[in-house]
Amino acid sequence: MIDHWQSQLQTAWGLDAPLIRLDGEYDLNFAAGDMIFKVMRAGCDPQLIDMQVQALSLLGGQRVPAIVPALDGALVQTLPDNSGADRLVWAMQKLSGQCYADASPKTPALAAELGSALGEMDATLAGFDHPMLSRDFKWNLAQGGWIADHLDQIADTNRKGVLRSICDDFSTLTLDNSPVQAIHNDANDYNLLVTTGAASRRLTGIIDFGDMCAAPRVCELAIAGAYLVLDHDQPERMLAQMVAAYHAVNPLTAPEVDMIVPLLRMRLAVSVVNSTLMASQNPDDPYVTISQAPAWRYLERDGEHPKLVTARLRAACGFCARDGADRVLAWLDAERGNFAPVMGVDLANAPMGSLSVENSTWPENPFDLPAPEAAQIGQEFGQGPWLGYYNEPRLIYTAPAFRMGPWAASDRRTVHLAIDVFMPAGSPVYAPLDGTVLVAEYRDGHLDYGGVIILEHQTPDGDAFYTLYGHLDPVFTQTLSVGDKVGKGAAFCQLGDTGHNGGWAPHIHFQLALMTDGMHGDWPGVGAPDDMYLWDRVCPNPAALLNLPDAKTRYEPVDKSTVLQGRQSQFGANLSLTYSDPVMLMRGWKHHLFDEWGRPYLDAYNNVPHVGHAHPRIRAVAAAQLGRMNSNTRYLHPAQTALAEKILSKMPDGLDTVFFVNSGTEANELALRLARAHTGAKGMVTPDHGYHGNTTGAIDISAYKFNAKGGVGQPDWVELIDLPDTYRGQGGFADQAGPAIAALAAKGHGVAGFIAETFPSVAGQIIPPDGYLAQVYAQIRAAGGLCIADEVQTGLGRLGAHYFGFEQQQVTPDIVVMGKPIGNGHPVGVLVTRREIADSFAQGPEFFSTFGGSTLSCVIVKEVLDIVDDEELQTNAQIMGDRLMAGLRDLMETSPHVGDVRGMGLFCGVDLVVDKTSKTQATALCSYVKNRMRDHRILIGSEGPKDNVLKIRPPLTIDAEGIDMILQTLGDILAEVA
Ligand code: PMP
Repeated sequence: MIDHWQSQLQTAWGLDAPLIRLDGEYDLNFAAGDMIFKVMRAGCDPQLIDMQVQALSLLGGQRVPAIVPALDGALVQTLPDNSGADRLVWAMQKLSGQCYADASPKTPALAAELGSALGEMDATLAGFDHPMLSRDFKWNLAQGGWIADHLDQIADTNRKGVLRSICDDFSTLTLDNSPVQAIHNDANDYNLLVTTGAASRRLTGIIDFGDMCAAPRVCELAIAGAYLVLDHDQPERMLAQMVAAYHAVNPLTAPEVDMIVPLLRMRLAVSVVNSTLMASQNPDDPYVTISQAPAWRYLERDGEHPKLVTARLRAACGFCARDGADRVLAWLDAERGNFAPVMGVDLANAPMGSLSVENSTWPENPFDLPAPEAAQIGQEFGQGPWLGYYNEPRLIYTAPAFRMGPWAASDRRTVHLAIDVFMPAGSPVYAPLDGTVLVAEYRDGHLDYGGVIILEHQTPDGDAFYTLYGHLDPVFTQTLSVGDKVGKGAAFCQLGDTGHNGGWAPHIHFQLALMTDGMHGDWPGVGAPDDMYLWDRVCPNPAALLNLPDAKTRYEPVDKSTVLQGRQSQFGANLSLTYSDPVMLMRGWKHHLFDEWGRPYLDAYNNVPHVGHAHPRIRAVAAAQLGRMNSNTRYLHPAQTALAEKILSKMPDGLDTVFFVNSGTEANELALRLARAHTGAKGMVTPDHGYHGNTTGAIDISAYKFNAKGGVGQPDWVELIDLPDTYRGQGGFADQAGPAIAALAAKGHGVAGFIAETFPSVAGQIIPPDGYLAQVYAQIRAAGGLCIADEVQTGLGRLGAHYFGFEQQQVTPDIVVMGKPIGNGHPVGVLVTRREIADSFAQGPEFFSTFGGSTLSCVIVKEVLDIVDDEELQTNAQIMGDRLMAGLRDLMETSPHVGDVRGMGLFCGVDLVVDKTSKTQATALCSYVKNRMRDHRILIGSEGPKDNVLKIRPPLTIDAEGIDMILQTLGDILAEVA
């Protein structure tokens, strides 16, 4: 058969590429080179093909397949099949990409791209007409009402009820509100093509126009949406992205937007009813039930209420939350100043108090707000009245109810949807206008509302809206019932005390709501930052009802793009910024960080916050010391010697003399001077790709910098040896020290020393082979040089099994350099050496570093080292490091791109490769993974000469849950590109 078509198509289209048969239920589909041939079933209506060919020609190949005419110029040919029957045949260009159904990740950006593609397509198709468009067929959603007659086929009564209510909603729609035009009518996940590979997925094409028909254009969105939402963890956000993007290129009206959700549900209903009917004809086909499962999972899920989804779509398009909401807002604005004072006093001059992520340190631990702290929130602003902001992101909502995902560090609701008025407990609360009690409850959970009342109101035009009063004294439950009328100015409740208001400092949470659908049982008082476009419209600023201006009470977090612009204009271009979408971080706690909107991030990258971000002990000693004095090492202070004693207690015998400086760089500069002073020589030997700091001298010994593009180049007094990389290297690394020493000698240089990061870090988290440093040190020492261990990355317990990296290598350096983590964010460098080396250095001029060893630095560093011991963070690094390494090794088994995992304790590298045989560095993939991890709110880094090694190096506080979050997320992301 295929030979028959090969020769037919050769004659008709001049085809020379071999035909490959593709799937197709009734028609024959072939791929050949960059073309697709469609051989229609015998008896196929030529008009149906004509409709598609005309539409595709009109769309002109933009994200749709271009029609390829036959040699005689005809778009459609009639050719005989091998039984002699006539078949309609046509050809089109093949589009690249995989189908959306198989693609991952399915991102909001991709949904937006689909929305604009459909919008542009429909705008063009609006001018298309064809007799076949108005044929009757079951997939015209506007005619979907046919399923109502078949609901008896659905055995499950609950499901039948779901379908019945979908049909009822459908029957109330005014479909005339959306213009009838030609639409694709089947943008399902097998008819969309997207890019593959280690870059964000992009839409490459929309195919299969066989279901085109004339229908209200919103059916296009409802149908595409019906597939977009299936088995997605953020279906509403996906839908909103698609609809907003469609609206941007092909504007919709609000009544049209209102029909999308009911039509989407109707499409899924048509789909399950249709497949149930087919199943009754083929009772043994399991595929039918399997194919229904995702639709049922969506229809039966406990997700966002359909009316709230509609409000979301409206908001995403810039419309008000529901029909009439704009009238309510206009009326409230006009009446501002005329409402009865809710707290009985004029609030015009009441001060605002910010509890925001950026302005406050409430709560100390953003994962746990204990009762005593909750009772004191905002105490710095006094007894009141003072006001808490609308739209303010806060970290005080720590209860599990606010969390939106499985992890402690998952996204959470942070943004306040109300205005607070802080006043003493017992203060009476008055109704701002007439209302009817809709809800009067006592919710006694920790950090819940305590007593809560919702009043329903009407504008003179008859539009309803609602006001919510939270954190009340529940005494009202004895007198007030649902349905009671409350007159304007009537005192109907009072502020609760901490024991009865959810545990908070006494205040009222005063919220406005323009609708209540889907909010029952929860009455959200805070929203997720990424949903604020919705909440801003459903629960807008209630300032008018308090007779206050909106501007006074609305909080605006610092704007990231303004800060970015400032940075670009104020700083040099080689001050690099991580991530294609940079993060702005405002608060931290242990191994967690929070951005300006309170979005949490797991910090799996930063080694500076060694004992965790915002450690209360560091904060306390720093504040106390700054309150006393802060000076330098020209004067005596016991903090200096106490710190020296602590550091030396961690050192092997012989290393007995300490220098304090400001940075790792400065410590390495000093190490160079000490080595030269002690040996009288200048030459240095160091492994390739090392990094020791950013000053002239430190760069001279940092191949990572001097050999970088535009770098200063290698000085003649520096000799490089190969990186001890056992994954890519050939071995024999230590043997290169001898030739390096000889090369220095040949240039007239003696050997002052050897410097190495004990475990090379920027070179890609390398663990040198056992015995490596012992061998190198022996050769350097035999040549008269000193051995310098840069422990900035590896020291202070990070390796778990060892306090310093050199212990693992079983060597004792002559000089040890420490930096970054030792100050937990405070700038400090420390150098330790032997007395005789310090004595040689003391022959020269006085040594003084103004800030090195400042009183403040000394107390902070001593506290950091004590915390490592007191909290047993070295042991934690070992346990968590083992857990991480074990999980990473599992990923190495399953992922074709994980070439090597290496590490010790919480110093880990994941070497990503194109394939495991060539070990070619997968640089683009590494960047993709790093950015995707950031999308999932996990910060990791990338390193290595080809920037293909994921660097995982969290604060030592990380716990099992944090490790599991990294492993699970990394596994998911690697699966996206497998
Ligand atoms: N040595 C090593 C191994 C480092 O990683 C760094 C900084 N990343 C430095 C020295 C320089 O430290 P600083 O930036 O504090 O000067």
